Amino acid sequence: MSSLVARAQLVAAVAAQYSDHVDKEGRFPSEAVRAMKEARLLSAYIPREFGGEGADLAEIAEVVSVISQACASAGMTYAMHQIKVSSVISHGDKAEWHQEFMRRISSEQLLVASATTEGGIGGNLRNSICAVERLGDRFSLVKDGTVISYGRDADAILITARSAPDAPASDQVMAVLTKDQYKLELTGVWDAMGMRGTCSDNFKFSAEGDVAQILPNDFGEIAAKSMLAICHILWSAVWYGIASSAVSRAQSFVRAEARRNPGQTPPGALRVAEAANMLQLMRSNTIAGLSRFATAKVNDDDLGSVGFIVAMNNIKIGASRMVVDIINHALLITGINGYRNNTPYSVGRHMRDALSAQIMISNDRIFGNVANLLLMHRLDPSLAA
Ligand SMILES: Cc1cc2nc3c(=O)[nH]c(=O)nc-3n(C[C@H](O)[C@H](O)[C@H](O)COP(=O)(O)OP(=O)(O)OC[C@H]3O[C@@H](n4cnc5c(N)ncnc54)[C@H](O)[C@@H]3O)c2cc1C
Repeated sequence: MSSLVARAQLVAAVAAQYSDHVDKEGRFPSEAVRAMKEARLLSAYIPREFGGEGADLAEIAEVVSVISQACASAGMTYAMHQIKVSSVISHGDKAEWHQEFMRRISSEQLLVASATTEGGIGGNLRNSICAVERLGDRFSLVKDGTVISYGRDADAILITARSAPDAPASDQVMAVLTKDQYKLELTGVWDAMGMRGTCSDNFKFSAEGDVAQILPNDFGEIAAKSMLAICHILWSAVWYGIASSAVSRAQSFVRAEARRNPGQTPPGALRVAEAANMLQLMRSNTIAGLSRFATAKVNDDDLGSVGFIVAMNNIKIGASRMVVDIINHALLITGINGYRNNTPYSVGRHMRDALSAQIMISNDRIFGNVANLLLMHRLDPSLAA
């Protein structure tokens, strides 16, 4: 099999062909996801003993970025799938049901979606209203008003809920449910400014499953020890992909200008240099996140530390802000050609997709959490990773 990046480039070529249509129609990027399955990219992160390729997070982030350069909705779909798969890898690797589920993802190339948001709670994913109701070895669950990207096209959903009907809101579990076990009632259609192909409709979710499908660790631990970091890093990789595509279009625009007027430096050239500088900072931010997580992963104290949580939240905040600034630079460079939707230099879709970054778990909510932590915690001035 060819390298992950080579396969990601094949997927990106397919995604690029359909990205404008996906955006215009607000439809699922089915061609790109089919190409991911054919390239066996959905199981790339899964350990080899369960049929995957055992890729590391940096390799997955690179795949995410390559696909996102062509179609951010396809890239975000791939990122969200891997974020969910990572919870099963990190917290289900000793549980028979989840081991078998990983083998199924690998052999059937199952696409996994997420249902953490809930009506009445919004983006506060560390609280749930709905609860798991256990009866012997079985459980049932109803979650209302949940946003589930590509919910109708997924093969399985990872969902959060309180551990029991009498449990407090923050005593949560996460369960895997497969398509044959749940019913989705559409309660809100995704007709959004950007990321239109993620088809992030609202649903009432009802399901029944075996208790064995609930991940062994409580959700608080899953969120703190793997999900928060992996989510923020892979989202940042999506946004980096969007930003680099916009800068690449702006650079092509300026190079075409230079060819038309030999001997003259086009006025946009300076801004391209500035955008390249900003892009490098954004890239460094994501790479720093990867390196910080790799260090913390092997040290439980570090993984649970305030410094680590602050750093991982800052990765998301930084990337979600920089992507918008960078695309704005690309727009200033390309001018009306970038503003129009039908030129090789268009950056409108990039900008609309990128604006989702700051509300995908609101930056204000994240700043609020970090602000509380920084009341107790001194910032580390060291440059050591
Ligand atoms: C493209 C996309 C795909 C998504 N896919 C999924 C998915 O597959 N599954 C899923 O479960 N969810 C998904 N979501 C939902 C997402 O995870 C968040 O839940 C959602 O973006 C938050 O919605 P909200 O604006 O109502 O949030 P809230 O976080 O509730 O915030 C509402 C507003 O209140 C303010 N606010 C809230 N808390 C604070 C605070 N502490 N301090 C200051 N201000 C605050 C903010 O200004 C914010 O704008 C998706 C969202 C997007 C944009």
